[in-house]
Amino acid sequence: MIRLEELHGQTAIVGSGIAGLMAALELAPQPVVLITREGLGQECSSAWAQGGIAAALGADDSPAQHLADTLRAGDSLCDETIASGILSEAHEAIAVLERYGVRFDRTVDGVFSFGREAAHSRRRILHFGGDRTGSEITSALKRAARQCPSITCLTGVEARRLITTNGRVTGIHLQKKNHAQVLGTAQVIMATGGCGGLFETSTNPSGNFGQGIMMAARAGAALRDMEFMQFHPSALDTSQTPLPLISEAVRGEGAILIDQTGRRFMAHVPGAELASRDVVARAVHLVISEGGRAFLDAREALGSGFAQRFSGIHALCAAIGIDPAHEAIPIRPAAHYHMGGIAVDKDGQSTLPGLWAIGECAATGLHGANRLASNSLLEAVVMGRRAARDVVGRKMRTLPTAPKAELLLESDPGSVRPVVSEYLGVVRDEMGLNCSISKLLPLIEANGRGSDPALVALAIAVFANLRCESRGGHFRSDFPGPASRSQSNLMTLAEILAHAGSVCQDPILRTA
Ligand SMILES: Cc1cc2nc3c(=O)[nH]c(=O)nc-3n(C[C@H](O)[C@H](O)[C@H](O)COP(=O)(O)OP(=O)(O)OC[C@H]3O[C@@H](n4cnc5c(N)ncnc54)[C@H](O)[C@@H]3O)c2cc1C
Repeated sequence: MIRLEELHGQTAIVGSGIAGLMAALELAPQPVVLITREGLGQECSSAWAQGGIAAALGADDSPAQHLADTLRAGDSLCDETIASGILSEAHEAIAVLERYGVRFDRTVDGVFSFGREAAHSRRRILHFGGDRTGSEITSALKRAARQCPSITCLTGVEARRLITTNGRVTGIHLQKKNHAQVLGTAQVIMATGGCGGLFETSTNPSGNFGQGIMMAARAGAALRDMEFMQFHPSALDTSQTPLPLISEAVRGEGAILIDQTGRRFMAHVPGAELASRDVVARAVHLVISEGGRAFLDAREALGSGFAQRFSGIHALCAAIGIDPAHEAIPIRPAAHYHMGGIAVDKDGQSTLPGLWAIGECAATGLHGANRLASNSLLEAVVMGRRAARDVVGRKMRTLPTAPKAELLLESDPGSVRPVVSEYLGVVRDEMGLNCSISKLLPLIEANGRGSDPALVALAIAVFANLRCESRGGHFRSDFPGPASRSQSNLMTLAEILAHAGSVCQDPILRTA
């Protein structure tokens, strides 16, 4: 498909969202191969980010304030040292983005215009074009990457497996249509985004179903806190896949949540509509599971100003015949952001030598049990830069000759989505988790199209099964409160499979 021999030995980056693009640019002039399944910057959550990027740059703000809000949202599971380091690099991250040509909205006085989102104690969200921040950042980085001579872009190419020799990365298995090949490399940076595509109801691109996590786990890297999935309370309630998002910034501007009778159901909850996402998502879920409907009402707060402040969201609503100036917007919760992922250190290095992970596929410890809104774009920029710095200047290793690659079956999460959606959603319990494990394990063992996505789903189910408490994005109706002692957990695939195997030995499940 491609003359990979010429690229043999170069650092490989998988994924061209903000994390992957940033790492590729910061590695320059070191040659790098940027592998991406669709076009550059396409099929990525990055380009869809509406709210913006959190940065404590306001006169009334500080990295310490931002850290306090992040730790509160993370519900005791953030790594404070990591979080403090990432958040205090916000100033530099924004300056770097501006150097690449990214624009941010400013007030008439020329200073940054800060938006507000849930669980932030300050207005600190930088945005562009109201709600077009992700697209602005992705476009600027794409432009820079295309002009950068050290970056070779392999578009339309899917990474499927990491190759290891003696416990370290020596290559990556790539597929394009009916061709498979191995690129020999000692350094892979995984930047494959989230895994919301495992759910039937999600805001993520459908192709983002955790392929990077799957490849890392199969190669032996440890995963961290896989159970923590953030469900966004306000996806637009349509039949589209994925569901369009109505940013929290709309609630930040004063919009309220009502049910089909007009009752403001968050009125008596601390923080009301701006309580943390898991609290709001469960409240919306409850209204819907009791047979009602939930709406976001911006009529009073924004009225005719809606179209100007949130032009993109206004267009999404218009497409289904809703005018937010005069009508409440129908919403439902949807899988949105994965806090768990490939366990990495402060430089993005995983537990597998030669593998780094950045952006949403990685778990740095910044988000803990629940991500503070708009911290993820910041993390993608900061960790993309850090991983690049860590990779640069490493001694080149002699690589074995790349083995011949066998063509793998195309992955399809179709058989996995119903299981994930039924048992691993907003509210979980032991019976459902055990049931999901017993359905997912055979899908993995069948080695069919559902095998790779089932592996990621199984990891979520096993971590969720072992966490007998409710915390952040993980809620169990059989353990509705937090445990008195709680910690972040790491597991390898071997450990995950061993636990799943023991669950399937349960006599109740075997006779079910
Ligand atoms: C609708 C929406 C709105 C959001 N709004 C905000 C916001 O306002 N602020 C904020 O901070 N965060 C927001 N988020 C979250 C944020 O956008 C993501 O966490 C972040 O952009 C992830 O960046 P990334 O580079 O890690 O992954 P992505 O941007 O998702 O990119 C992943 C890339 O990997 C590629 N890929 C995946 N698998 C493979 C494979 N096997 N082989 C080759 N390529 C592969 C994909 O095609 C894509 O190019 C939002 C998310 C969504 C979905």
